Amino acid sequence: MIGAVDIGGTKIAAGIVDAEGRVLTRSQVPTNADAGYRNAFHAVVQMLRQAEKEVDQKLTGIGIGSTGPVYPLTGEIGDVNFFPNWKGENPVKDLERVFQVGAAIENDADAAALGEAGWGARRNKTRLIYVTVGTGIGVGLIFDGKVYRGVDYSHPEIGHHLIDPSGPPCYCGFSGCWESLATGPAMESWMASIIPPGYQHRENLTAKKICELTRAGDEFALRSVEREARYLGLGLANLVTLYVPDAIVLGGSLMKSSDLWMDAIYKIIAASCHFVPYERTEVALASLGEDANLIGAARVWYHRFAPSGGSHAG
Ligand SMILES: [Zn+2]
Repeated sequence: MIGAVDIGGTKIAAGIVDAEGRVLTRSQVPTNADAGYRNAFHAVVQMLRQAEKEVDQKLTGIGIGSTGPVYPLTGEIGDVNFFPNWKGENPVKDLERVFQVGAAIENDADAAALGEAGWGARRNKTRLIYVTVGTGIGVGLIFDGKVYRGVDYSHPEIGHHLIDPSGPPCYCGFSGCWESLATGPAMESWMASIIPPGYQHRENLTAKKICELTRAGDEFALRSVEREARYLGLGLANLVTLYVPDAIVLGGSLMKSSDLWMDAIYKIIAASCHFVPYERTEVALASLGEDANLIGAARVWYHRFAPSGGSHAG
């Protein structure tokens, strides 16, 4: 019975995940960054206590996936865009003190990658890359069941690798990084820049809406989707060329419209990755669905404290 905590920019979810990777309980609260870390921590404790009551068992460990940067070695929260005032707080030590069990934290992309590698349809793949595409692009690299880390346990920021130096500026320092070109907001702002003044769907041009308009035959939406597919494909082709993984697993809100980009992605990989056996890299959708982040958070505990533990689902 692992307590799982998913800390995001807009909401914090918590629940209990069993040894087969099944989510037994889940609840969530708004992140409410301005109310402070103590307020959010108190809400997490309440949710986990309630979860223990619902399954009538005590937690045996706690895993946390959080929007980054976080410091897995110390358990501290870094300089996170969404909650800058929480820097230096330590949910790992705080939860260990309250629940008297081992706890561990990872960047949420690494957590979701661990979930897919441990309990997903592509579990036990030696080299698995998880890519989540939504308001940002998060990438987790799992090699031989372990999270790949940079120096100081750092999380490589593959969402910010350079795709097109003539692209839009990003807060990372690059202009034209992957995230500036291929996220939902990137698609929205590009479409806003090409539509004529009297365009009838100018308001509420969300990524979801653009996908709907494409299916209805809208030419501007179609151009935006084609551009999105191209940039998604270029970034993924780079990952194939750089790592030649067994699998690249795709998740995040944009993958709900995966039928609009998958063909283009396969074509770009086939056209660009001639020096590696690209056809051996399986590019597929994530298998853990809506609870992927919570399941991944639970897997963070196994990764740290019981690397070979936990049954494999399916
Ligand atoms: Zn960037």
